[in-house]
Amino acid sequence: MKPIAEIFPLLKAAPRQVVITTHQKPDPDAMGSSLGLYHMLVALGHSVTVISPTNWASFLNWMPGCDKVVDFEYRRAEGEAVLNKAEWLFCLDFNTLSRAKHMAPIIQGLQCVKVLIDHHQQPEETAFTYGISNTAKSSTSEMVYDFIVDSGNRDIVNKDIAECLYAGVIGDTGSFRFPATTSSVHTMVAHLKETGFNHTQVHENIYDNFLENRLRFIGMALLHRMEIMYEYNTALIAISKNDLLKFDIKTGDTEGLVNYPLTIQGIKLAAIVIDRDEERKWSFRSKGEFDTNTFARTYFNGGGHYNASGGKSSESLDKNIQKFKQSIKENASLLQ
Ligand code: 5GP
Ligand code: MN
Repeated sequence: MKPIAEIFPLLKAAPRQVVITTHQKPDPDAMGSSLGLYHMLVALGHSVTVISPTNWASFLNWMPGCDKVVDFEYRRAEGEAVLNKAEWLFCLDFNTLSRAKHMAPIIQGLQCVKVLIDHHQQPEETAFTYGISNTAKSSTSEMVYDFIVDSGNRDIVNKDIAECLYAGVIGDTGSFRFPATTSSVHTMVAHLKETGFNHTQVHENIYDNFLENRLRFIGMALLHRMEIMYEYNTALIAISKNDLLKFDIKTGDTEGLVNYPLTIQGIKLAAIVIDRDEERKWSFRSKGEFDTNTFARTYFNGGGHYNASGGKSSESLDKNIQKFKQSIKENASLLQ
């Protein structure tokens, strides 16, 4: 993977056929960084399509440009046609092709220029032509901002770009509270605010945009589905398929649920496992010195960041719960 700066001079060679993609079930950072880059490249005269490997939470639909994003699972033929014409493919907010789900083998086979912009640990560097991987960065959205500025396009930043990138940054920094919130994050936000975008509205669009059923579901989950293992300073929430059906839970409705147990004094590791149709999906969050990336890689075929990771398993929900309990026993010394 060559340094990303080497692609800067090529950006002037418009128009190019460009595809931007991100990880399955995109979160605010995945969608915000993709659409922020989309608006920049369109402004430079390129022909750009954003393709998401799967659907996404409806609380992202307000983002400028989101209505043009192709859901690969739903519109596969269109997605493949665009990918086959692509001269450049930007891969944002993921670093291992498997995170692109059904798009992974297609991406692997493409002969075009592949560019990585990402902040997760242990990138699959050989899969990309150019790129930047920086685990110290708050978000991929911040890295897209750096990409815009470092390539000499600071003046392109407008309200649309600001809204997308701001959404990504608040998503990944827990609204500026996580350790990766550096002074450069605040400097960037100061510049984004100069475009006149309404940051309160962005927070409301993302965090106050659910239906009653989701709040009732959270109440049920915290009351009946959360187990606290004080011996290991760990909490586990397990959600069955029946729970999802009963409360009519949609993509995005479970986002953030894993954070609640960390509000209990002393809890170091919080985990949630959700019985999705095709797999059991895990999310892990920790405070301080517990490396969820290593934990997710070791036990649950996943990865991510030091304090926030995910994983998956094809085994049953019960088997997953057993495996989790066994794995925290094995990690007891790190959780004390
Ligand atoms: P979340 O729990 O919000 O789905 O994900 C937390 C972090 O871990 C995100 O940065 C996400 O991209 C990453 N992540 C989630 N699931 C997986 C996975 O199955 N594999 C890998 N490598 N990363 C994941
Ligand atoms: Mn991210």
